[in-house]
Amino acid sequence: MDAPIMIQFSSGGSQFYAGKGLDNKEFHAAIAGAVSGAYHVRAVAEQYGVPVILHTDHCAKNLLPWFDGLLEADERYFELHGEPLFSSHMLDLSEEPLEENIEICVKYMERMAKINCGLEMELGITGGEEDGVNNEDANPEDLYSKPEEIYQVYEALAKVPNGFFTIAAAFGNVHGVYQPGNVVLKPKILEAAQKYIAEKIGEPEGSKPVSFVFHGGSGSDLKDIREARKC
Ligand SMILES: [Zn+2]
Repeated sequence: MDAPIMIQFSSGGSQFYAGKGLDNKEFHAAIAGAVSGAYHVRAVAEQYGVPVILHTDHCAKNLLPWFDGLLEADERYFELHGEPLFSSHMLDLSEEPLEENIEICVKYMERMAKINCGLEMELGITGGEEDGVNNEDANPEDLYSKPEEIYQVYEALAKVPNGFFTIAAAFGNVHGVYQPGNVVLKPKILEAAQKYIAEKIGEPEGSKPVSFVFHGGSGSDLKDIREARKC
C-alpha cells in the first residue's frame, strides 16, 4: 500500500519472539523479545521506506516489570540516537479503579515525556478475548466509557509537560472476529466525549482535543468504522 504502518508487540508475542524455551522469570524473555523485535522492524523498515510506528500492546498491572524493561531499553536508545527505541507503549490498567489507573499513567508519562515516547492508556473494557486476556463475560455497561471519565483522564495527562498520549476508550469495541451484528459499536460515545471535553477546556465547537485509539475493529461494520475514525 506504500503507506505508513504500525507494528506492535504484545507481551505474549514478545516472549514468543525470544523463543519459548527461554526462562521468562521477571519477564526477561518478553523484554528481550520485544527489544530484538524492535531492532528487526527498524532494520526491515528501511527497506520499505515507509514510516513505521513501533508500539507495544495491552500491559496490565501484573505486566509492569515488562513495561519497565522496555522503558529502560528506550532510554538507552534515546541516549545514543535522540529518540526512543519504541514510538509508544500501551498501559492497560482498565481493570484497576480509574483513580489508580490515572495515577500510574501520569507517573509513567512523566518519565516517557523526557524521551519523546508516547503513552496509550485504556479505560473501560474492550470486550472479547486477546492474548489470554478474556473479557467475554464483561458487564455490557463497562463496554461504554462515559464523557466525564474520559475528561478525567484527559485533564490529568494533558498536564504532563511535553507528554504525548492517546486514549483507548470503550465504545462497544470487542477483540476478535465476530459475525456481523454481534458487535454494537457506538462511535457517538467518542463524538460526545470530544464535544464535552472541548467545552470544558474552552476549545471551539467541532474541535477534537482527544486522540482516540480503536481496538478490536475486525468484523465491525465498515460504516461504523468510518464513523469512529471521524471521531
Ligand atoms: Zn487491544
